[in-house]
Amino acid sequence: MRLIVSYYGVGLFASAIVAGAVAVIAWKRTVTPVGRVLGLLMTAVFTWAMAAAFEAAAPDQATKVLLAKIEFLGIAATPVLVFLFATGYSRSGSRLKPLRAAALWIIPAATVALAVTNEAHGLVWSGFSTAEGTRAGFLVYHHGPFFWVHAGYSYLLLFATAVALLLAFFRFKGVFRRQALLLLLAFPLPWAANALYLAGLAGAERGYDFTPVGFACSGFFLIWAMFRLRLVDIVPVAQERVIESMGESLIIVDRAGRLTATNPAARRLMAEAGGPPEDIPESKVLGRPAAELFPGWPALAAGLGGSAVPARELAWVREGGTRYFDLRLTPVVGPGAFNAGQVAILYDITRIKNAETSAVAARRVAETLREAGVTLSSNLDFKQITSLILELLKRVIPYDIGAFMTVEGNDLKLAAIKRPSDTRSLIGETYPLTGSRLCHVAIQKGRPLISAITGPDDILLPFRLDKGAHSFLGVPIVFRDRAIGLIALYNFEAEPFSEDAARVAELFASQAAIALDNSRRIEQMELLAVTDQLTGLYNRRAFAGMAAKEVGRSRRYRRPLALILFDIDHFKAVNDTHGHPMGDQVLQVLTRLVSKTIRATDVICRYGGDEFLVLMPEAGREEALAMAERLREEISRMTVVTPGGTLTLTVSLGVADLDPAGDEDIDGLINRADRAMYQAKAAGRGQVRG
Ligand code: GH3
Ligand code: MG
Repeated sequence: MRLIVSYYGVGLFASAIVAGAVAVIAWKRTVTPVGRVLGLLMTAVFTWAMAAAFEAAAPDQATKVLLAKIEFLGIAATPVLVFLFATGYSRSGSRLKPLRAAALWIIPAATVALAVTNEAHGLVWSGFSTAEGTRAGFLVYHHGPFFWVHAGYSYLLLFATAVALLLAFFRFKGVFRRQALLLLLAFPLPWAANALYLAGLAGAERGYDFTPVGFACSGFFLIWAMFRLRLVDIVPVAQERVIESMGESLIIVDRAGRLTATNPAARRLMAEAGGPPEDIPESKVLGRPAAELFPGWPALAAGLGGSAVPARELAWVREGGTRYFDLRLTPVVGPGAFNAGQVAILYDITRIKNAETSAVAARRVAETLREAGVTLSSNLDFKQITSLILELLKRVIPYDIGAFMTVEGNDLKLAAIKRPSDTRSLIGETYPLTGSRLCHVAIQKGRPLISAITGPDDILLPFRLDKGAHSFLGVPIVFRDRAIGLIALYNFEAEPFSEDAARVAELFASQAAIALDNSRRIEQMELLAVTDQLTGLYNRRAFAGMAAKEVGRSRRYRRPLALILFDIDHFKAVNDTHGHPMGDQVLQVLTRLVSKTIRATDVICRYGGDEFLVLMPEAGREEALAMAERLREEISRMTVVTPGGTLTLTVSLGVADLDPAGDEDIDGLINRADRAMYQAKAAGRGQVRG
C-alpha cells in the first residue's frame, strides 16, 4: 500500500507522539485521580491524532473512513475528559457523584456507536467527498445530524468547563487561583482549532482538522506545568487523599491570613470553636479571614491571623475540660520562592498531655511518700506526725478540710486538723463513733471510703461550715488488721474524691500507721520516765506517785501539807511573738528561778504546758501563801533577754492546803489549787489566790 506523506499528516503524527508521551507520563508519574484523568485524556487525544495521521496517509476512502471511526473514539471522549480533568483539577467538581460522571458518557458512547454503524443510517456522516486541490486527496466529511448533537454536547461541556474554571478562579486565592488560570489558558487552543474546523475555516474544506494538534499542545503545556509548577500531582494528592481523611486538622491560609483550604477535621474544630457549622460547604468559608473562624479559641485565631507567634503547644480551655494541641506552622513557598501563606496542622495531643500530667502527678506522689517516710521515721512526736501527714497529703490530694483522728475505744479523738481557718481548740476532743456515719463506715470497712455528704451526721466534727462540705474521703489507718485511726478529708466542692486520690491516701495511711505505732510506743516509754524533758522537773506521773505518798504521810502524822499551782499569764503570746524555742527557753529560766526560790524539801513538777505545781510538805496555808507571794514577786522581776527585746512575765497562783483530818486525796487538793488559780486569772492575773 502506498502511503501519502504530507506536512499535515506528519504534524498529526508528531501530535500523536506528544499526546502519547504525555499520557504515559501522566499515568506513571501522578498518583491522583486527576492525574489519571489527564492520562486518559491524552490517550484519547493520542488515539484521535494517530488515527487522523494514518487517515491522512491512507490512500483509499474505505481505509480513511475506517480510521475516522477509530478517531471518533478519541473525539467523543475528549470533551468529557477535559471537563472531568478541569473540574477535578480546580476542585470545583470534586463533589461530582459517580452516577452523574457516568451520565456524562451517554452521548459520547452513542456517538461512537453511530459512527461505527454510520453506513446503516448516515447519522454521523451524510457523505464524503475528496478534497479539491490537495495532493493527498484528503477526505472531506459531510456531517450528519448526530454529528451536530455530538458537537453541541462537546461545546456544552466546554462551556461548563470554562464556567467551573472561572468560578474557581474568582472563588479561590493563591495556588488554586493560579491552577484555574493555568487551565483557562491551556484549553482555548484546541477549541479554537476545532471551532475553525467546524466553521469550515483554516482548510477545513480541504479536510484539515487541527483540533488534535491543539489538544496535544495543551497536553504538553499541562505536563510541563505539572512538573515545573508541581501542581497537579502535589496539591490534589495532599488535598484529596491525605488531607480529607487525616485526623489532624489542616488549615491553609494565604499571605493575608485568609482561609485557602481546610479539611473536615479542621471544620469540626471550627464549629466547636464557635465558628461556622461543620456541615456548610467548604467554599462558604474559603477566603474568609482565618482568625474570625475560631472565635472561641483566641490563641489559635491570633496565630493564624499572624498577629502573634503562636506557641507550639496550644491549650484550649473548654467546658468539657482543657484540650491540648500541637500546632505546626509551615510557610507555603510558591514558585520562585514566593511566600504564598502558611499551612497549619493541629495535632490533638490531649491524651498524651493527660498521660503526661498523671505521670507527673504519680511522680509527685512517689516523692511526697518518700519524704513522708523519711520525715516520719525521724520525727516521732505524735502531734507532729499527725499534722505532718495532713500537710503532705494536701500536696497530692487537694482537700478543704483534713482531720487526723485516732480510734480510742468507741470514740474518735482528733489529733490534727487542717482547714482554711485553723482552730486548734478542737484538738484532743473526742467524738462518739456511732454519731458519725461516714467515719464509722470507713473504719468498719477498713478500706478508703469515697462518699457524698448528704446529712449532718456525715460530718464528724462540729464544724461551722460556711460553705458546707459536700464530699468525703475517709481512709482508715490500719495496723496489724486493726483500724487505729482515720484520716477524714472533706471538700466544699460536690465533685467526689477520685479513686486515685483514695489509693494515694491509702498509701499515706499505711506510712502513717507505722509512724503512729512507733510514736505510741515512744510515748509509752516516755510515760515510764519520771522527768520532763524540757525542764528536768518531775513530770505529772512521777509527781502523782510522790504526792500520794506525801498525802499519806501528812494523814498518818497529822502534819500540814500545802500545794501551789501556778500558770504563766499569756504564755501563748510569748510563743506567738518570740517563737516556740524562745518560749521553751523562758520555761527553763523560770524553772531555775522557781527551783532556787522554793525550800529544799518542796517538790516541784511541771504539771502541763505552762502549769507548775509546788508541793510543800510541812507547810500550812499561811506559809504556802507567803511562798506563792514570793514566787509571784520573783517571777515578775525576772527578765529574759531575747532578740526581740527584754521579756517579763507574770504568773497566776492558786494555793490549797490539806486538812490532815479529812479524806481529800491529791487530786482533790490539786483541784482546789486549780480553782484558786483560776480565780487569780479571773481577777486580772499576776495574783495569788487561795
Ligand atoms: P492564760 O494562761 O493567761 O490564760 O494565757 P496563756 O496564753 O498562757 O494560755 P494557756 O495557759 O491556755 O496556754 C498555754 C500555752 O503554753 C499554750 C502553748 O502555746 C504554750 N506551751 C505549752 N507547752 C509549751 C512548751 O513546752 N514550750 C513552749 N514554748 N510553749 C508551750
Ligand atoms: Mg498560761
